[in-house]
Amino acid sequence: MASHIVGYPRMGPKRELKFALESFWDGKSTAEDLEKVATDLRASIWKQMADAGIKYIPSNTFSYYDQVLDTTAMLGAVPERYSWTGGEIGFDTYFSMARGNATVPAMEMTKWFDTNYHFIVPELGPNTKFSYSSHKAVNEYKEAKALGVDTVPVLIGPVSYLLLSKPAKGVEKGFPLLSLLSSILPVYKEVIAELKAAGASWIQFDEPTLVLDLDAHKLAAFSAAYTELESALSGLNVLVETYFADVPAESFKTLTSLSSVTAYGFDLVRGTQTVELIKSGFPAGKYLFAGVVDGRNIWADDLAASLSTLQALEAVVGKDKLVVSTSCSLMHTAVDLVNETKLDSEIKSWLAFAAQKVVEVDALAKALAGQKDEAYFAANAAAQASRRSSPRVTNEEVQKAAAALKGSDHRRATNVSARLDAQQRKLNLPVLPTTTIGSFPQTVELRRVRREYKAKKISEEEYVSAIKEEISKVVKLQEELDIDVLVHGEPERNDMVEYFGEQLSGFAFTANGWVQSYGSRCVKPPIIYGDVSRPNPMTVFWSKTAQSMTSRPMKGMLTGPVTILNWSFVRNDQPRFETCYQIALAIKKEVEDLEAAGIQVIQIDEAALREGLPLRKAEHAFYLDWAVHSFRITNCEIKDTTQIHTHMCYSNFNDIIHSIINMDADVITIENSRSDEKLLSVFREGVKYGAGIGPGVYDIHSPRIPSTEEIADRINKMLAVLDTNILWVNPDCGLKTRKYTEVKPALTNMVSAAKLIRTQL
Ligand code: GLN
Ligand code: ZN
Repeated sequence: MASHIVGYPRMGPKRELKFALESFWDGKSTAEDLEKVATDLRASIWKQMADAGIKYIPSNTFSYYDQVLDTTAMLGAVPERYSWTGGEIGFDTYFSMARGNATVPAMEMTKWFDTNYHFIVPELGPNTKFSYSSHKAVNEYKEAKALGVDTVPVLIGPVSYLLLSKPAKGVEKGFPLLSLLSSILPVYKEVIAELKAAGASWIQFDEPTLVLDLDAHKLAAFSAAYTELESALSGLNVLVETYFADVPAESFKTLTSLSSVTAYGFDLVRGTQTVELIKSGFPAGKYLFAGVVDGRNIWADDLAASLSTLQALEAVVGKDKLVVSTSCSLMHTAVDLVNETKLDSEIKSWLAFAAQKVVEVDALAKALAGQKDEAYFAANAAAQASRRSSPRVTNEEVQKAAAALKGSDHRRATNVSARLDAQQRKLNLPVLPTTTIGSFPQTVELRRVRREYKAKKISEEEYVSAIKEEISKVVKLQEELDIDVLVHGEPERNDMVEYFGEQLSGFAFTANGWVQSYGSRCVKPPIIYGDVSRPNPMTVFWSKTAQSMTSRPMKGMLTGPVTILNWSFVRNDQPRFETCYQIALAIKKEVEDLEAAGIQVIQIDEAALREGLPLRKAEHAFYLDWAVHSFRITNCEIKDTTQIHTHMCYSNFNDIIHSIINMDADVITIENSRSDEKLLSVFREGVKYGAGIGPGVYDIHSPRIPSTEEIADRINKMLAVLDTNILWVNPDCGLKTRKYTEVKPALTNMVSAAKLIRTQL
């Protein structure tokens, strides 16, 4: 009985790759230094999987930035603006595409399906020339082989690659990206030929777009692509891997009839219909890679349950054709529980990170083969039982309060335009008010202060005074810049979710449970293991302190319930909406306490609302209903004069605009500049938006400093579709990842642009 891992985290157990990348980008280390760290990481991952007994070990799941960008490099599909002249793509071109450089902006980045991982969106058009320009897949295969590990090289499949790309600038919007299939397949053939020559006997194509609602035309592209590749693939075992949901019945039929494909990978955790689909018909003689171990979460697998699922599948596909696998790449979970020395031991027994999941996969495969490790299975069963019955999981009062919310509506009594009038009478803001999204640069010094306080190396007094000083610097800077609505800069926060989770009950924390978000950025999602409540105010002290330093309005800054939910590892023993309602009630208390403390503007970030949207349309309405309801619960009982802002890190929400309006916030700030102002098209198409809105005027993901003219130009474009009195001027997102040397000139230009336009109104 065989075992397989779809993909593995590449950052390293202590984020080694992050630090190596950042030091390289800062010019503090060489390309060789970076390559050395990467080589060591890959070697240790392969060795770990080989030692655990995994049969099908992936390669080319490592990446210096992003696996989709790697594919763009493989295909030589470099957008013209990077002035690449051909040859093997090196770090210069690669990282310019990823991050922009002094003269050229980065490529667009967007969420990878419904995860918090972001990929770099390929920009293609009829003139894109494709040529084999990165040998990374083959190099990694050979590298593993030299270490004695025969791996399964992983490529993003050609159809998913095209479906995830967008027409390049200047190319008409409706350009049929799939028409490029015949241009990219020759490159895939070259790669396949080289892999074969290097000795590969398996190849894995990740085609996760197969879980989406696809029309017949898109589905036909899969048949066309894999038929076209058939002769190139002959002699290889070909695995098409899907994940994040089940494959719809129609697509399942198409997929399982591809003759060049010998194995199928399915997500049996999120793909709730998959087992039934397989039972209803699976092609004889093909392999089933059964993704039973959850790659998206940190819970230990219920091994007994998985084993019985696997046994049922074995009866359908045959003993020698069943391979135990993970539901998706393990890059969406934390790396290694071994490094969690401070975690409560009961909670720890309920968990499994990537390294432990590898062991679970192998143990299941062995059990199926009749070599069950009884002690291991017994320990797992005991942990499952302790999680089910532990009193720390349940809080009756919270359960009752959350249950009472269901079925009834919660919203502010007055409508938004009346509220905005009442707020303006109090706030007296100029037209096109300027603001920022919350965080200011997090300096090395600041991180040191937080770290030392956490480690109890400095006293609470020292900590508070250091943070106060930082807030006062940020306040002064904003006053100098003449920003209208200020923020305190969030210096006390490591992370916008962790900060709240740490103060809520029902949450647990890891020391090293990092998950890649984009590039070198990682997040450390809290673990929601029990009912959620808020024992004490979480932000009131800092917001009050900051407000006392200025006469301008200071925004209270909270993370919303949906975002806390979507950016946490959520318990899997009750529906997600139940957990969300519990968090909403906790945030509601905080909102009310901020208002009582005299804070007049409160921003409740729902950065991740869009990304929680289920992948399939049929499930959207239900999710949006409880998500939007949860947001409204947080502020349904405050005064008209208190202004509620929300912020979203996503612009492609044309399809959910009515839900966003239904959130009933007074002002929304949204990412905009990196997505080609897609957002504005919603309003161009006539959607009425009465609340305040601040589409980001510049990209904070890049070090590039936007000019006043460029920002003014953006504002003018917005004014063409939005009323003057509702438009706000702000960056795309928080500034914590930027440097002051970037932030000061960028915000100076932003304020100048707003002032310039005010004089032209
Ligand atoms: N208030 C947060 C910040 O500025 C928002 C971050 C986000 O939207 N991702 O950092
Ligand atoms: Zn944001």
